[in-house]
Amino acid sequence: MKWGGTAVAVLLLVAWGVSEVWWLHYETRLGYVHLYRGEAGLVRHGPGTFPGVPGWSVGPQVQTPRRWWPAFRGPGAPWFQVSVPLWLPLSAATLVAAFGWRRARRAGLDDGEPRCGNCRYNRTGLAPGANCPECNAPPK
Ligand SMILES: [Zn+2]
Repeated sequence: MKWGGTAVAVLLLVAWGVSEVWWLHYETRLGYVHLYRGEAGLVRHGPGTFPGVPGWSVGPQVQTPRRWWPAFRGPGAPWFQVSVPLWLPLSAATLVAAFGWRRARRAGLDDGEPRCGNCRYNRTGLAPGANCPECNAPPK
């Protein structure tokens, strides 16, 4: 989870960076996916819409108003559209990654050995009432 989340977060960050400079468009017969100025979108072609050439197309970004919130169109509209600003999945992935790293760190610290509550010295073999030989803290 920590690596998955980190990978997705990095990927989204790169996608965001790319989308600020170029637009990316992947056309299929049913619709297209696009990456456009900090947002990812999915558009389903409506009836009578002429689909473009299937495959990738790329172009330089033009200055258009930025959308910070998800947008939906349909199902009443002749075409269906969803667009999500990249900061949303980016924050989600960052949270997942942060949570994963924190959990991994905790699991690493809690290795099942009896440890000093102060300096984490391994207390294995010490008398239960003995102070920590490392930092002299009393056992807790
Ligand atoms: Zn200690």
